[in-house]
Amino acid sequence: MSAPELITITVDGRQVQVPKGTGLVEAAATAGIEIPVFCYEPRIGSAVGACRMCLVEIEGMPKLQTGCTTPAQDGMVVHTARTSETAARGQNATIEFLLLNHPLDCPVCDKGGECPLQDLSFRYGPGKTRMTFRKRSLEKPIPISPTIALDRERCILCYRCTRFSQEVAEDEELVAVNRGALTMIATFEDEPYRGPFSGNIVELCPVGALTSTQYRFLARPWEYERAASVCGLCAVGCNITVQSREGRVQRVLSRNHPEVDRGWLCDKGRFSSPHLYAEERIHSPRYRRGEAGAVEELDWDEALAELERLIGEAHGEVVLALSGTETLEVAYSLAAIVRRGAHSDGVVLPEPALDALDPYRVPLSALAAAEEIVVFEESPVLERAPVVDLWLRLARRNGTRLTTIGPAGEIQRAPGDGAGACRELAGETNELGQRLRKAERVILIWSGRGGAGGAHLAGLAHALGLHEKDGSGALYLPSTPNPRGVAEAWEAAADESSHQPEQIGLLLVSGDEAANDPAIRKLAERARRTVALTLFAGDTASWADLVLPATSYLEGEGTMRNLEGRLQRLRRVAAAPVRPELSWLAELGERIGVTLPASATGIFAELSAKALDGISPSSLGDRAPLPARAKAGPVEAPEPEAPPTVRGGPLELIRYRALFSGPVVEHVPQLAFQRPLPEVEISAEDADRRAIADGDDVVVRSNGISVKLRARINAALRPGSVRIAAEHCSELALGVQVSRP
Ligand code: SF4
Ligand code: SF4
Repeated sequence: MSAPELITITVDGRQVQVPKGTGLVEAAATAGIEIPVFCYEPRIGSAVGACRMCLVEIEGMPKLQTGCTTPAQDGMVVHTARTSETAARGQNATIEFLLLNHPLDCPVCDKGGECPLQDLSFRYGPGKTRMTFRKRSLEKPIPISPTIALDRERCILCYRCTRFSQEVAEDEELVAVNRGALTMIATFEDEPYRGPFSGNIVELCPVGALTSTQYRFLARPWEYERAASVCGLCAVGCNITVQSREGRVQRVLSRNHPEVDRGWLCDKGRFSSPHLYAEERIHSPRYRRGEAGAVEELDWDEALAELERLIGEAHGEVVLALSGTETLEVAYSLAAIVRRGAHSDGVVLPEPALDALDPYRVPLSALAAAEEIVVFEESPVLERAPVVDLWLRLARRNGTRLTTIGPAGEIQRAPGDGAGACRELAGETNELGQRLRKAERVILIWSGRGGAGGAHLAGLAHALGLHEKDGSGALYLPSTPNPRGVAEAWEAAADESSHQPEQIGLLLVSGDEAANDPAIRKLAERARRTVALTLFAGDTASWADLVLPATSYLEGEGTMRNLEGRLQRLRRVAAAPVRPELSWLAELGERIGVTLPASATGIFAELSAKALDGISPSSLGDRAPLPARAKAGPVEAPEPEAPPTVRGGPLELIRYRALFSGPVVEHVPQLAFQRPLPEVEISAEDADRRAIADGDDVVVRSNGISVKLRARINAALRPGSVRIAAEHCSELALGVQVSRP
């Protein structure tokens, strides 16, 4: 790419060179001069000049101009309010106008103390009011969803929120109604704002018009402790700032990592902190005596003695089931107990090791500049890795050709046939494959079934030569937050004396996700004894002999590897109400002859020496870098697996894990409205054949089990397949019948 053409402009007497096309706000910032703004925010699209706060005087122009919408021109001489009386008067008048009807309720406004309107009124405003009439009053606050409240009196009509809804999330749910002075922000047809990224508008709003219902009136912003951490709820690993007061998390804000999240969070990451304080959390170990025995609480000494006894009695037949929600450190300590302490290699990993794509690493931000993106999609990207969906939308707006391949893709393939599609594209004669070979920046994304998906994608990436092209690569979207990290931790804890157990003497289940997984529950039925490590009680105590309380991703130090392969640090931002895992695992280790550090730093050092090339946690920084690509070698893509046998009915069921599901979301009442609707997506052809209309109640049956759901006709879905969120179809077999009741 050639270097951009530079132009020279003068701002308040300071001459600077900036690339041609730079806006005046950025050009002035290059000169170290502030042009104040409310509505301008480059991440939500082009400038609209709505608030008029950025007025500047430009020599040769008769009237004041808006800095955000005016590109810098060579030789332009600009005066901001610092050096121009006229610009200062213009900005002063803008503030006076914005405050005309503003309630000035700063002492009780959640935005007070971090409010651009306060700050700019202080710096550029008139200082006193000339208005003596009654201000306009409106009904308030209006809940636009269970998580967001709207105070229309405070709104300055900057349109940041509606532009986010229309141009970033593209959900089109937020609109401006009426005209002129009566313009108001509203949701479309007054329906709740359901978009999964809605919380970003609270952060974008430059005044206290949009506030979080979880955070309203809790405290003043300066009372908080702030910590830089990472969201641990999906494999994107968005960077977050967590604010807490007296050890209690009050809110989660974005912390723009330009390569990972661009400053956006999904609502699951933003609004999930109340799960920490859910009543169902367990605070002490629970032990069940005998088959139908009563559950009793133990202290940690008793619990560890019991665990030591159970490990001893298992005689090496110990199996560890990991959720993929653990940090590397917790997974490593558990793995060390099993491999070095119990001498067992028994493990159930959430996904197989995923290093095949290391030569094709790209930051998520590369999606925005890609020429071609191909998504192998069976589970919607939005449900699996929400912020990736935002990157794909940005890419499409930037002109990227986006092709989806799958049961609901533009190129339709049967469920589970992503591997077959990869093979075809890798062939010399495939039309799309040829186009991808010619393109300069190509990114492949796998959002299909787990197993060997990464290896199939690597085979295609290699055939297309993506390791040799800058800005090209391949991304695998796992369905749990840290499957790669826990697999690495398991490998690093290997021990020569361990062996594969033939039976399950003791099943050690780590995390609520594994504890709620029907496959793990089946394993528990085969195990002689079971120990579970969970946040919430649920019914675990009815099938596990010993339940140990776990900590959440907000309560411990540690690291996770995200879907790009980036190792990121999580911080302890909330006081844990339970004993941290690393502390009791170190003590348990001592009891069974395994030396384990009790701190995340100590374990990271051990892990790093064994498996992470000796890197130090400090080298990860607050915005972790993406490791260099591994060297590409010849890739032998595995043979596509035989398609699973579809029994139980003529329609093949695609089961996906919905974003707003799982143990954490289930314990956040404000997110209940986002949980997946009890729906079955059905193709137009299959619906027609069964005389089913969109919105009809239907019955989905297989193997004697039936579920009542609502039909949603998905015109893009391939005939012969239906798609249902896992929580509404966990009992159904792969083949189903759908009919009217
Ligand atoms: S609600 Fe906030 S973000 Fe939306 S237009 Fe009003 S001031 Fe701007
Ligand atoms: S996209 Fe994933 S990592 Fe980001 S906030 Fe949402 S759940 Fe957390």
